[in-house]
Amino acid sequence: MRPIKLRAHHLLCVQGYKGWGLTPEFKEFMFALSEQLKTQPDSKIEIVDGADDICGHCSELVEGKCAAPPDPGIQDAKVLRHFQFMLNTEYPAKVVADKIKSTLNPDVFKEICGGGACEQYPDNCRICDESTT
Ligand code: SF4
Repeated sequence: MRPIKLRAHHLLCVQGYKGWGLTPEFKEFMFALSEQLKTQPDSKIEIVDGADDICGHCSELVEGKCAAPPDPGIQDAKVLRHFQFMLNTEYPAKVVADKIKSTLNPDVFKEICGGGACEQYPDNCRICDESTT
């Protein structure tokens, strides 16, 4: 089966998805993907550089690139560095979830998603809720 292609910062978004998004179609896709990764932990995720399967359902994707400021590539780079994930590599969904949960902490999420990097931080992200409890 084809792996799910995700850019690095979306590895966090899918763990903490609470329903944000610009369109009903985007929300439906995100809920389905989050559920799949939870209930089918052997699902393969390939970490890609740039637009991914989530971006493909997002109205901010323009000519194959994210048009939403600030540049999400900065968040991607922070996620790769902090969690030691490799680009263009496949991981089982459970390995990704365990790796993120085992190093979850409020300072890391603030560093990656705070400071205006993500509009959903902190209130609309479940992973942020968990990192602060
Ligand atoms: S806002 Fe940008 S990075 Fe996020 S899903 Fe849309 S196109 Fe992708």
